[in-house]
Amino acid sequence: MNKQKILKQYFGFDFFRPVQEKAIEHILEKKDLLTILPTGSGKSLIFQLPTLMMEGTTVVISPLIALMQDQVVNLQVNGISAKMISSQNSNEENNHTFDELLNGELKFLYIAPERFTSPYFLNQLHNVNINFFVIDEAHCVSEWGHEFREDYQKLGLLKTNFPNTPISCFTATATRSVEQDILRTLSIDSSNVVRSKIQRTNLIIRSQKRIGNGRDQIVTFLKTHSDECGIVYCFTRKETEQVSEYLNSKGFNTLAYHAGLPANSRDDIFKKFKDESVKIIVATIAFGMGIDKGNIRFVLHTSMPKTLENYSQEIGRAGRDGMNADVLLLYSKADEMGKKRFIDDLPEGTYKTNNYKKLEQMYRFSISSKCRHKLIADYFDDEIEECADICDNCLGEEREYQDITIEAQKFLSAVLRCDQRFGQAYIIDVLRGSRGKRILDFGHDNLSVYGIGKDFAKEQWGSVVDTLLDIDAIFIDGEFRVIKITNIGNEILKKQRLVQIDASSLEVLKSYNKEYKKEIVTNELFEQFRTLRTSLAQEEKVPPYLIFSDKTLNQMSNELPITDEDFLNISGIGQMKLEKYGEVFIDLCSKLRSEKN
Ligand code: ADP
Repeated sequence: MNKQKILKQYFGFDFFRPVQEKAIEHILEKKDLLTILPTGSGKSLIFQLPTLMMEGTTVVISPLIALMQDQVVNLQVNGISAKMISSQNSNEENNHTFDELLNGELKFLYIAPERFTSPYFLNQLHNVNINFFVIDEAHCVSEWGHEFREDYQKLGLLKTNFPNTPISCFTATATRSVEQDILRTLSIDSSNVVRSKIQRTNLIIRSQKRIGNGRDQIVTFLKTHSDECGIVYCFTRKETEQVSEYLNSKGFNTLAYHAGLPANSRDDIFKKFKDESVKIIVATIAFGMGIDKGNIRFVLHTSMPKTLENYSQEIGRAGRDGMNADVLLLYSKADEMGKKRFIDDLPEGTYKTNNYKKLEQMYRFSISSKCRHKLIADYFDDEIEECADICDNCLGEEREYQDITIEAQKFLSAVLRCDQRFGQAYIIDVLRGSRGKRILDFGHDNLSVYGIGKDFAKEQWGSVVDTLLDIDAIFIDGEFRVIKITNIGNEILKKQRLVQIDASSLEVLKSYNKEYKKEIVTNELFEQFRTLRTSLAQEEKVPPYLIFSDKTLNQMSNELPITDEDFLNISGIGQMKLEKYGEVFIDLCSKLRSEKN
């Protein structure tokens, strides 16, 4: 069967996405491959489809059992022989799978990286006809990445043991240095990289300063997502419990999740989220990589993550099915300071400096008035246009602006008068007329700018500095983090430019009553399809989204297909799904059609 036919029959799609086709060609030519594509681009299809055109077995290495389980079930639902060898299965089950593998009965074997440290296992693999190895979440190879795994680093042994078997690696988040690390560790040539634009065009990104403990903001946001699945990320375990309890008292149905819970409770919560008996999980980042659920419609951060890599990975869990999803970040200066303290404790060296830099980039992102998609792309060295309408800044969402040109000038002239040799805190102290010893020693209490900024609190001056950094009027130089002025800063000093600030960032506490636009429009019949899907999922004990994605259901509820042919024309429905679910769903469509008439 050719690849176009396989695409329709097994996956239910009519077209390849351009980058999928390019990567698939690479695999079919038996080359190594590193694909860096944003979440939701359809990475799994890239290695699954060529496998179906090959004779042997594809061995997929993945960091988490939950991730593997989902993919295995998904393949099985589509009539493809796939198994997993894992510590969760009994020895008997694993041995049986191994026999199937040796007998060439499997198209896919999913396996955790630690198995490769067993010489016996490696030896046995030589008796299998392996098409190629797949390494999922390949950024785990890199120490510079945010999810480094020692087991992953050992995967360098694949090339030494199987020099003629190609390797295909996949990740959604890799800066250039992580990319280099992956290539080096796995001995893959750089000509084998397929990278696409990092932008997630179905994520609507917003960032707001957290007001107080942020509870009102959280509730306002969640109200626009009633009955939808989503994750609320908190920084501490205690906070997950408090926020979850608060939300439940407000009528939401949530569960708290963190690494301190016993393993069986965590599994249970995971299961409830997948089968949608609980739609909102309030979690620490321990609720992470294993979440392959397609229809997560929102991700809310109640505080700022450590790095933009973490952030993009976490928001990346929303909207994998391609339908719009909302993400909201609530940040505060205190988040940045709190996280800085952790870095302070690290041993001196590049790792520490890098961590400071990454944290600062995250904070700059949070406070920025620039296109958020573009800021993320810049971070990953990717060039994109401003998004125009899928982030708060480009949407020009209502904000109250306050002119702070005078304050900006005060700050900049203080920087100049101190000869551009001091950091932010010092300059603010000068402006606020501090009697600190260093200031007196330098005689800076004699400057004309000394004490002219007493009307602003330290935190407010911090916001002024953030704005000046954001508009590139100043930059922070060197190890001592000295503030230097740019041409833009000079223009501000000469009154050639105005400076504005989001008024909320100058206020310590402000009541919050912002309304969100609801971004996702589903048909009024959608609910009935969802109910049918849920009951089938319960019968089969598989997560609902593995039966049909929200996108497929939405199209179905719009078109109400009543022939096999029309049913097959819906994106995401192939032969297998038609045979399995066609009848019940077509029955529902006919019923709804006659009710409509
Ligand atoms: P990733 O692993 O990159 O996050 P997935 O493999 O989970 O992405 O795919 C994301 C969604 O895109 C899934 O719902 C998948 O069925 C869908 N998809 C993949 N390829 C195509 C395609 N060619 N046409 C339409 N939808 C696709």
